[in-house]
Amino acid sequence: MTTRLPIAPERIADTLPLTNDERHYLLDVLRLGDGAEIEVFDGLGGRYLARLSLVNGALSLGERLAELENASGVSLAPALIKNDRLDWVVEKATELGAMRVLPLQCDNCVVRLDGNKGGQRQARWQKIAQAASRQCGRAFIPEVTAPARLESVLERARDAGELAIVLFEREVEQSFSDLVRSIDPKRQLLIVSGPEGGFREEEIAKARALGARTVSLGKRILRAETAPIAALAIAQALRGEM
Ligand code: SAM
Repeated sequence: MTTRLPIAPERIADTLPLTNDERHYLLDVLRLGDGAEIEVFDGLGGRYLARLSLVNGALSLGERLAELENASGVSLAPALIKNDRLDWVVEKATELGAMRVLPLQCDNCVVRLDGNKGGQRQARWQKIAQAASRQCGRAFIPEVTAPARLESVLERARDAGELAIVLFEREVEQSFSDLVRSIDPKRQLLIVSGPEGGFREEEIAKARALGARTVSLGKRILRAETAPIAALAIAQALRGEM
């Protein structure tokens, strides 16, 4: 399996000196030798062949490799849920090709992550996304934002021309897959899912007023971590990404 190393875009250069952590990972953990070939990715979609040079403790970058994914995409806005289960959602969302993950602080969330705590958790989720991108061969690392209120996330989506699709177990008319099938695959989507206790009616009314569509994932009630991942997999399959 190809060794893959994430490198921030501003560090990309023909000769790329390694940090101590990177040297430790490549030499001590992976036990790579002089001249070993690896792949470097910048988290924005760029990936390069690179050769390890032990003499100057650097990587020599070679050709830029073909892009693996197109710019249009699907983002996920899952509500905060208990017991670190959002860690799992971030990891799976990255594997399934999410462009961004925007954790939501909803009215019924048992978990509250305000201020500092939200920032700390965001840093942890971003690391999880980076590790998952490295593992699954993506050159793109989804941005994970700090927890935000549903309303502000939906306003941002509307202003960016993204279609917000709210998973709502009491929706009886519109199925998620029928809606996704009817949308131009180039349109950016934001899949929004609720916490263990679901969305409040007032949140649903506000979401609809902000242009979001509400959809059903079928008759079974899925757990709060299952619903967003199931929906993302369906959307990616229907849009030819899987
Ligand atoms: N409050 C609900 C109840 O107790 O009956 C269940 C909420 S469910 C565990 C958590 C979230 O998953 C919901 O807010 C919704 O976003 C999503 N969800 C689960 N099953 C769904 C379904 N069949 N259709 C649409 N969304 C679903």
